[in-house]
Parts: sequence; C-alpha cells; structure tokens
Amino acid sequence: MPTRVKLPYAERAAGLVGSVIDSSTSLLHKQSHDIVRLAMGSPAAEAVPSEILAGIAEVELSKSDAYDYAATEGDPPLHAALLEMLRGTSDETTADRLTITAGGMQGLDLFCKIFVDPGDLVVVESPTYTNGSATALSYGATLLEVPVDDDGMDVDALADLVAAAGRVPKAIYTIPTFQNPSGATLSLERRHRLLDLAREWGSMVLDDDPYGLLRFEGDPLPTLRELGAGDPLVFAVRTFSKIVAPGLRVGWVDTVPELQPLLINAKQAMDTCTNLPAQRLLHGFLTGGHLEDHLVTQRAEYKRRKEAMHEALREHFGDIARWTDPEGGFFLWVTLDNGVDAEKLFPVALTEGVAFIPGSAFSPSGRFTDALRLCFASTPPDRIHEGVRRLRRAVDLLAKS
Ligand code: PMP
Repeated sequence: MPTRVKLPYAERAAGLVGSVIDSSTSLLHKQSHDIVRLAMGSPAAEAVPSEILAGIAEVELSKSDAYDYAATEGDPPLHAALLEMLRGTSDETTADRLTITAGGMQGLDLFCKIFVDPGDLVVVESPTYTNGSATALSYGATLLEVPVDDDGMDVDALADLVAAAGRVPKAIYTIPTFQNPSGATLSLERRHRLLDLAREWGSMVLDDDPYGLLRFEGDPLPTLRELGAGDPLVFAVRTFSKIVAPGLRVGWVDTVPELQPLLINAKQAMDTCTNLPAQRLLHGFLTGGHLEDHLVTQRAEYKRRKEAMHEALREHFGDIARWTDPEGGFFLWVTLDNGVDAEKLFPVALTEGVAFIPGSAFSPSGRFTDALRLCFASTPPDRIHEGVRRLRRAVDLLAKS
C-alpha cells in the first residue's frame, strides 16, 4: 500500500492551477465513439504541411549537428530566417530583440518569471486564454478581469476597474487579434488607448498574438509592439503553433534589447535551448519559401469553415443563442440565451458526439457559464454542420431533463 506522504511544497505550488482546456482535451482523447471535435485549438490535421516537413527532415535531420545544443536565443539560421520573415510586417524587428522559445507558452512563462512577484496586479481579459492567466497565477499574481466585447478589451472598463482596485497593474495581458476564446480583435482606437493607459500607469503590456497571420477578412491592424514604439514596454509573444504545427513547440518573443541577456539567463534555467531538430525543420520551411503559400491556403480554408459554422449556428441556434464573427483565427464564442449551463452541457454533448470547451474554462473566476468556445479551424464544413446539429440536440436534451 502506498503511504500518504505530506510533500513539502513551495508556496508557489498553490498557484499551479492546471488547465480546464487541457483536461477537457485529454478527456476527449480517451473517447472511442464518433465525436465532432470543436474543442481543441489545433490547426486542421490536413493543413499541417507534413509532407513538406518530411522532405526537409530527410535532408536536415540526417546531419549530426542537428542534434547538438543550440544557442539559447535560437539557432542562428532560424533566427536569421525569422528576421527575414518579419521584415516589412508590423512585427519587423532586429536580432538583439528576438529570442526563439519553446512555443508561445514559454514566452508567457518567461515574462512572468522575470516580472511577476507574488501579489502583483496583472490585468487579464474576460474571457481570456486561461493557460496564459494561469501562468501569471503560478507566479502569485493577483488577476483583474476586464470584459471583452466585439472590439476586444473594453478599455473604459479597464480604466474604471483599475481605479476601483486602487493600484496600477504591473502588466496587462492581452490577446489583441482574433482572441482566444472570443475571436474578437482589439480596434485601432482601443490599441492606442490601451497603450496610453499602460504608459500613464507604468504598466507593461504582454502582447500574445498567435493568430494574427491567420486573417481571412478585413484589414490588418498594426501590432501593439509597433504602436507602442518602446514606451510602454511591450513584450510580444508569438508562435509557429497555429500557422505551421503545435507539436514543433517553436515560437519567439520580441522585446527591448536591454532585456535579452536576462531573458537568455531565464531560458537557460528552463531548457538551455529550444529543440534544435524542430528549429531546423522550420528553417527549411521558411527558407524554402513555403510559408506564404501555406498561409494563403489556410486562410481560405478557415474562412470557409467559419462561414460553415455561422450557417449551421443560424440553422440550429438562431432561436436560443448569439455568437461572434471573427475575421481570422480559430474560434468563435457562443452565448446561450436559454439558461442552459455550458458545463452541464459538456458531458451530454460528448455522449451526443460533439465536443466544445465550456466558457467558464476561460475565466479564472468561473464566469461565462452560459457560453461555449467553438473551434471552426480543425473540422471540415460538413462535419461542422453535423457537430452543431448534435450540439443543439444536446441542448434540447438537457433543457428537457
Ligand atoms: N496564447 C494563446 C492565446 C493561445 O491560443 C495559445 C495556444 N492555444 C498559446 C498562447 C500557446 O501557444 P503554444 O502552443 O505555441 O505554446
């Protein structure tokens, strides 16, 4: 019989709250019946350029130096290719600002490790990407949830809530473009106002933008890091997870050059360097000129899928729900008006053969029990229709029970 040992946890271990998004996803992996998966935030399996990557692997991964340690700030060839990829975009940058990371999550963790002390006030959007807010919690942050509407974070509410809190935030965490989970994009006017407030308060901005390159409608907006122009400090977190493949675990952060030495020390204490074979694959992908074509195909497909989801929602949920209209990215957000609790809906929906993530998973304080995040990106249109039909059946079953 194993004995129960009382483990001598560090105080910060209490902040390791785990992710409902990830636990729902694990639960989903265990199901054996036919499920339309509108839950996960992964690119479409068929959109992952596996054949191109396999061709690159055959050449690049047969070299023995592909298995060495790499420079902490990133393998020089990928570092250079990334600078080239960003040239002429709103994220254009220089070598002394760029550090390659193990995906976006490591960028968020590095920021919090360097800047967040226990008790620091950190603004998060409501709803937000809770794996991001959980990172701040794991360093002891006190979170301030600020509502999001169709134009992104409500900056007037931000000013009011900060005034009510009686102290300024150390950092403002935002997902400004095609937000996870709502799909909303922070308007240009609000981008300026958010930066003005951050400047006034001396707050940093944690600008997490994994989906910006997946715009399929409307005009691109300048990034916060470009608009901020160095004041306030904007710490930009980016990733290849959504535009190429999440399993590669490669992303990057862009910040002021003064911070880079400390960033490198912090990353060395975590993992020494980002996975070198994955960096070599991405280097081949970028320098082979594959990214642009790949993005063009992805954008067109995701637009088709969003439209399919809207059509299905109009058909099956027109009488009981409202939903958002993202111009890019992976997700839309459905709010139920008929009093059904989305957490209770989750197991019923799973039995009916459709999966989503309940809205409360995107609020550290458990708001949004009436909402659902649906991912339109990873499922073909006919299956989206079927999934939304099943979802309505689950809602009706629950409403009757
Ligand atoms: N930020 C947001 C807003 C995300 O949606 C995700 C992925 N779901 C991440 C960060 C993490 O990205 P990665 O998988 O590259 O760590």
